[in-house]
Amino acid sequence: MPGKMVEPTLLHYSVHMILILQLIMLPVNADASEKLVEDLFHYIDEHQDDFVQSLKDWLAVPSDSSDPRFREELIRMVHMTAERIRTLGGTVQLIDMGFETFHGGQTIQFPPAILAELGNDTDKATVCFYGHVDVQPAKKEDGWKTDPYTMTEMNEGNLYGRGATDNKGPVLAWIHAIETYINLKKDIPVNLKFIIEGVEETGSPGLEELLKGHKEFFSDVDYIVISDNVWLSRKPALTYGTRGNAYFFVEVESGEKDLHSGTFGGIVHESMRDLVYLLASLVDTSGHILIPGIYDDVAPLTEEESKLYESIEFDMEEHKNNTEVNTFLYNTKEEILQHMWRYPSLSIHGIEGGFAGIGTKTVIPSKVIGKFSIRQVPNMQIPVVEKLVRQKYIFTYRLMH
Ligand SMILES: [Zn+2]
Repeated sequence: MPGKMVEPTLLHYSVHMILILQLIMLPVNADASEKLVEDLFHYIDEHQDDFVQSLKDWLAVPSDSSDPRFREELIRMVHMTAERIRTLGGTVQLIDMGFETFHGGQTIQFPPAILAELGNDTDKATVCFYGHVDVQPAKKEDGWKTDPYTMTEMNEGNLYGRGATDNKGPVLAWIHAIETYINLKKDIPVNLKFIIEGVEETGSPGLEELLKGHKEFFSDVDYIVISDNVWLSRKPALTYGTRGNAYFFVEVESGEKDLHSGTFGGIVHESMRDLVYLLASLVDTSGHILIPGIYDDVAPLTEEESKLYESIEFDMEEHKNNTEVNTFLYNTKEEILQHMWRYPSLSIHGIEGGFAGIGTKTVIPSKVIGKFSIRQVPNMQIPVVEKLVRQKYIFTYRLMH
């Protein structure tokens, strides 16, 4: 998440925990279940300050996985998490993830990953919780109003700090929910498993191998829960899918070396000029993708699905304020949700090469690389998307030359 992104709220945190408690609770008889809910909520109210303090302690650890200077802190964060699960009575394995090589050749230890379990009653279902305790970089200069690693309360109970929503808050909410059951000596109606990693923000290197190498651990898991998403409104919600992504690089090379525009401008093909043309031909300013055939496979919007959007709680103004954008491309809640969730989008991310500094420079760069990606939805297929992008570029290239 970018530095400016608004991180979570006290309200969200308690709602999150309640959601987890409800998830853990299985229907028993109505009276007993009412009493259980009452006891659990009473415990939460009484211990709210402790829970918030825990979150504050966790947010104070700069477990930034992208920067080798924070590696010790990141490893400490994983151990703190393991310790909390052990305190609940869980069995914890710390899995060695090997070494990571950074740009520039520096090699350092990956933080270990946690595989843990609590309860193994064969009569109960097993819920596996995934979470991560690393964070993205956060500096005051990135636009934070307060120190990102000092959790601060502002705006009526909102708690701000790096990692509060993504993803330390949700990990702690699970731990606190389980702790609530244990301290009240209530039977937890499910077996619990945890997989918690420390390099999610850098693309989860090694996670796939970890999963493949521990098939036995996951063999009895009935449900996996991932609490790692942004809040759409103040109402708890379940995410049951996200859009996929196909990332493209387009490289344009016009010669062996950079040239001066005073001497060569006007007589040569220019890599940057051609690249900008190529990128601009992909999408228009209203967000419509201009690659022929790209919308062909997109699942059509049925009347039934269309109706679902009406009842979804979503405040456009609040979303606009939280994300600090000026205007959205669409004016209705329904259109915004559909374009966020069920239609593809194309974003141009940047250009490598050429002149990007302050001031003027009249260079004609010899080689530039453009980067863009297409968010994919049901029923799009990556090989088809790739083929359509290639066809589009072969066609545009023919027009240019
Ligand atoms: Zn996350």
